[in-house]
Amino acid sequence: MVENERAEQAPLLAAIAPRLGRAHVVGITGVPGAGKSTLVAALVDAFRDRALSVGVIAVDPSSPITGGAVLGDRIRMTRHAGDREVFVRSLASRGHLGGLCRTASRVIDVMDAAGKDIVLVETVGAGQSEIEVAELADSRIVISAPGLGDDVQTIKAGILEIADIMVVNKADSPLARASRRRLEAMLGGAFGKPVPVLETEALTGRGVPELAEAILARREAGVARPDPAGRVRRLLASLAAERLKTRIQDGTGPALEALCDRLARGDTSFEAAADAAIALFGGRDADR
Ligand code: GDP
Repeated sequence: MVENERAEQAPLLAAIAPRLGRAHVVGITGVPGAGKSTLVAALVDAFRDRALSVGVIAVDPSSPITGGAVLGDRIRMTRHAGDREVFVRSLASRGHLGGLCRTASRVIDVMDAAGKDIVLVETVGAGQSEIEVAELADSRIVISAPGLGDDVQTIKAGILEIADIMVVNKADSPLARASRRRLEAMLGGAFGKPVPVLETEALTGRGVPELAEAILARREAGVARPDPAGRVRRLLASLAAERLKTRIQDGTGPALEALCDRLARGDTSFEAAADAAIALFGGRDADR
């Protein structure tokens, strides 16, 4: 129901609202191939060993609903298939990133209300989408692996800035130590907060209990959700922008036609025309 964003979800959302705020939400991002899915499965084991219940949301902005990556994630989670304390949900793109973030936010809330202690949100793919989804989390983990452009590319995507914990996976690689040192040097004081860099071997589980402990330490320290009012404001802005875009895109009428003509002739700038279009279409339909 919450994934469909239809009217009938309203009573459900109202019913779960008093039960929110218990789960610790962990965002997991990083370049494809770094080992995110493998590490998520290993982390589920580590939390289950501590008798904690876990929700997993795999978010794939890049693939359609039947996408292979999401299917692969599901298959890798089959060892938890019979465990009632583990709930896995895959969310694929419905065409628009803003919608996907809203959906992820709702699904996090449902898992929180259902009593999951930890909710892991894994994003597939790289770039802006990961950062937007990461803004929903209490703890942001950025995973890199040696030989994958772990430093330059992640910096480019602005991903390092959001990391609360940095993980160098594939620590079995002889290149891992050097990769870790580079990251530590780059992180050293750069973003005004100390970011621990941990090494893991997701395939064998080595280093994963330490990662789980680092996450639980943040949970115990009671790090607040990053500014919930700011989170809903961002979601609101993105929905409002989507609606306005549709109105302008599909809009008719002489004022809009004239504006586009002037823009096409170079009689006005895009900036001025955008302000004019917002003024034209930002109000209620009846105001036009
Ligand atoms: P994702 O794209 O980030 O989700 O990465 P995957 O979890 O699909 O892993 C990519 C590949 O790396 C797979 O073939 C994994 O088996 C492998 N892999 C994952 N973790 C490790 C590790 O710790 N060491 C090694 N050597 N390979 C790993």
